[in-house]
Amino acid sequence: MNEVKKPKKPLIFYYVIVLLVLMLFNFLAMPWLTQRQIQQVDYGTFLEMAENKELGQVEVQQQENQILFTNKDNTAVYKTGMMPDPDLTQRLADSGAQFSGEIIEQMSPLLSFLLTWILPIVIFAVIGQFMYKRMLKNAGGPNAMMFGKSNAKVYVKSSEGIKFADVAGEDEAKESLTEIVDYLHNPGKYKEVGAAMPKGILLVGPPGTGKTMLAKAVAGEANVPFFSMSGSEFVEMFVGMGAAKVRDLFKQAKEKAPCIVFIDEIDAIGKKREGQIDGNDEREQTLNQLLTEMDGFEENSGVILLAATNRPESLDPALTRPGRFDRRVPVELPDLKGREEILKVHAKKIKVGPDVDFGKIARMASGASGAELANIINEAALRAVRDGRKSVTQADLEESIEVVIAGYQKKNAILTDSEKKIVAYHEIGHALVAAMQSHSAPVQKITIVPRTSGALGYTMQVEEGEHYLMSKEEIENKVATLTGGRAAEEVVFGSVTTGASNDIEQATKLSRAMITRYGMSEEFDMVAMETLTNQYLGGDTSLSCSAETQAQIDRQVVALVKKQHEKARQILKENRQKLDELAKYLYEKETITGEEFMSILHA
Ligand code: ADP
Repeated sequence: MNEVKKPKKPLIFYYVIVLLVLMLFNFLAMPWLTQRQIQQVDYGTFLEMAENKELGQVEVQQQENQILFTNKDNTAVYKTGMMPDPDLTQRLADSGAQFSGEIIEQMSPLLSFLLTWILPIVIFAVIGQFMYKRMLKNAGGPNAMMFGKSNAKVYVKSSEGIKFADVAGEDEAKESLTEIVDYLHNPGKYKEVGAAMPKGILLVGPPGTGKTMLAKAVAGEANVPFFSMSGSEFVEMFVGMGAAKVRDLFKQAKEKAPCIVFIDEIDAIGKKREGQIDGNDEREQTLNQLLTEMDGFEENSGVILLAATNRPESLDPALTRPGRFDRRVPVELPDLKGREEILKVHAKKIKVGPDVDFGKIARMASGASGAELANIINEAALRAVRDGRKSVTQADLEESIEVVIAGYQKKNAILTDSEKKIVAYHEIGHALVAAMQSHSAPVQKITIVPRTSGALGYTMQVEEGEHYLMSKEEIENKVATLTGGRAAEEVVFGSVTTGASNDIEQATKLSRAMITRYGMSEEFDMVAMETLTNQYLGGDTSLSCSAETQAQIDRQVVALVKKQHEKARQILKENRQKLDELAKYLYEKETITGEEFMSILHA
């Protein structure tokens, strides 16, 4: 449901209204209110009252030709026209009336006090209240009747019901978190020994690996309330609002303890504070408040703080010191087994045909995150529906891997004949160089159908297996493989195209890392020239060496890539016949699997 909001009126608008109301009040209402009601009576009544000595004060207004007078108790004011009456003064003197000059201005002291002091204050208070409410309404959502409400989403008793079983893979992370669940179930056991639970646990890892899910699962397993808030929700336009929200969040959490408080993307508020020219006051105040709150609640108070980030290195050291977020749980990209489990967990929601082999799909989708795998399953289901089938087949899943990783097939992008030939040779060039170096199937599958991501072909790499170390030779071979596409173009067509830009980038990155980070050059030995700054998001690096060294590094990188490029060209020249054969096959069929590739190679 969309809420239609009236455009906000500027604050000055309200001030002008208040001013106008006050001015109107002063000009119109005040004289009217302060004047006592005057009754018009005839001269006879006046004379009669004078006779009966009922007059209080009398004011003769010669200019207006009228007489104002009051009764004995001064409670009513009368007015009458003046008659030519020479005895008037005598008459009045006899009646015992007081001569007065200011009947009209006079009024009861209580009324005057009320009108001049209390009424304006009341009016101001009412208008102020109105404006305050209005501003709050404009500033926040429907329930923002108080500044600094945390707006945290509360899932009491884990309404979503996510359990550890729903989070596939990630066994190490689950193991770390099981302890927390156990603590929430049975805090006495820990108190007895005097063991204190960590107050904060930081879940770090690339996007889409299930950090949010894990946090929810902890709450679900422990059956405690779960407060969830994103770091960016704390940062507001007004300085101090974020801090107020943090206070409110912790207040709520303490009332509901034991419970879990989850802050997603904590780097939005937890960035290092120093060294910024354009310091962000609001963020710093919010962070300070968070630090204070974390110090404030005692150990074993039952409030456990979980936070997720994919940029742990950017967090303020004060946040990660012991006593705050002192435990770090890595949530890495899933391995082969993990991927298969994730696929199976998500496949429970869809109808799967009998031919589906999740192991094979998991192998094909190497490097995919949990979120991508969930997406692959969903894309496959959509494809099945599109084709009018009742269940998902292996082919659906295989196609959807390419869709998720490389984008949809471009239906209307027709490669010209010569372009298609070049793409075929380019892709086979990579694969052939790889195969000749490793003597095993280098790819799962190559297709040369243009994708919406802009790729003209797509190569599904083989799973490299559990592989934690890479030798210098392996990296060099990889660089050679990356240059293989371009090398094939050179060997076959004698000219080059723009198709290799991504290969060039990767080859450069790898060769540079060999020299600057892995200590694989003779000249620099084991000296780090670069540091990794963004491990989970692309892996940016920053140089830390002199300008001359940089120039030397650049020369070495060029030499390294050149050598491998030459090697690739050599391999392709020696296997020219196989190159032609394979490229022809790919060109005609538009797709080639690893097995077909090897059988042609060894034919
Ligand atoms: P993160 O917080 O790490 O960015 P999420 O926890 O929000 O990632 O995960 C996004 C989606 O990806 C989840 O809703 C879930 O469908 C899927 N997913 C990610 N990791 C897993 C996993 N290990 N098991 C099952 N599903 C997963």
